Amino acid sequence: MNEIFLLKLGEIVLKGQNRKQFEGKLRQNVRRRMSKYGEFDVYIIQSTVYVEPKSPDCDLEGAWEACHYIFGAVSLCRCRPCEKKLEAIFDAVQAYLGSSLDCAASFKVESKRSDKTFPLNSIQISQEIGGRLAEAHPQLKVDVHHPDYTVYVEIRDLAAYVHGPAEPGAGGLPTGVGGRAAVLLSGGIDSPVAAYMIAKRGVEIECVHFFSYPYTSEQAREKVLELARLLTRFCGRMTVNVVGFTEIQEAIRDHCPEGYFTLIMRRFMMRIAQRIARSHGCLSLVTGENLGQVASQTMEAMAVTGAVVDLPIFTPLIGMDKEEIVTIARRIGTLDTSILPYEDCCTVFTPKHPKTKPHLPEVEQAEAKLDVEALIARALEQTEKVMVRYDGGC
Ligand code: ATP
Ligand code: MG
Repeated sequence: MNEIFLLKLGEIVLKGQNRKQFEGKLRQNVRRRMSKYGEFDVYIIQSTVYVEPKSPDCDLEGAWEACHYIFGAVSLCRCRPCEKKLEAIFDAVQAYLGSSLDCAASFKVESKRSDKTFPLNSIQISQEIGGRLAEAHPQLKVDVHHPDYTVYVEIRDLAAYVHGPAEPGAGGLPTGVGGRAAVLLSGGIDSPVAAYMIAKRGVEIECVHFFSYPYTSEQAREKVLELARLLTRFCGRMTVNVVGFTEIQEAIRDHCPEGYFTLIMRRFMMRIAQRIARSHGCLSLVTGENLGQVASQTMEAMAVTGAVVDLPIFTPLIGMDKEEIVTIARRIGTLDTSILPYEDCCTVFTPKHPKTKPHLPEVEQAEAKLDVEALIARALEQTEKVMVRYDGGC
């Protein structure tokens, strides 16, 4: 056992009675993610998930990379375990972190002793190990305020662990503790970020995408599936329900006043998404809507759109600036795909002068000529379910 990963729990530690349930889910998620990289033992002790490779042919690099995408852990350490003895700790630091120390001009040791039976306290451990390291690396100066490199020593129940600086984990809550939601996923920048944000709160997601062939191309559909695939790195495999929207959009174009096209189209999206959500046990709808971004995202317009459904509509981006959304999209790796130029069905038949302050009765009047139920039923019948996995494509 040369190396082990310690994933430190985030918000879960604040949980009361259901903490065990949250921890159980996290352990299960970590096990599932690690299974692809070989045989690992996964257990939780003292607010930390231990990920321990059980055979020399485990793919440690792949497993370590995957740990960065698991919701529920706030920081990740790649460590060398050793006996709880000063000599063994010093040897482990030398063998495991020696080359990093050789590249540094200054260092410090930070220790944490959760096993209170260990005879030295944290400060004494740091002094002992720090003193020996300074002797072994004469070029190194001790700098407790701004060191080039920090050596961490943790004295825990089972062993001592030494490691360098921790890396940030994905944060949030373990996938699955927050139920399921249906995300309306377009090919834009916003909705993949909205999906990520809701998934980060422990929610499993199911996606719904509307496409209007031939007005929108096969490439636009592929782009959305690729966005979903990128999201699965965080939230595991998911289904994208691809709904043919052409007939509905043409019916709106042919029978409704132009100023209401987008609003009526969005009402259809919500109705259909709600049906799909209910049939998959989803308890909410999620969109990338953002107050004031476009005509259909004023408070009045969103009220009219939301009036056709009963499920709560979550809009995690509602108060964010575009720049903030773009920053998250870049960080989670969806931006480059989102900015590919393929069109979305929202841009088909867009009105020149969309209503920005609609009233519900006038919108209901505007869609009165449509056979709403029949249109929805046909769209649902033709919905294609595509299972998306991170490594296996679609
Ligand atoms: P952009 O970054 O271009 O704003 P967007 O996905 O937010 O991308 P909007 O026109 O602002 O596009 O749409 C608002 C929301 O409506 C989206 O965030 C998404 O949740 C939903 N939506 C739009 N078009 C579709 C679509 N074709 N399929 C599913 N949901 C869609
Ligand atoms: Mg948008």
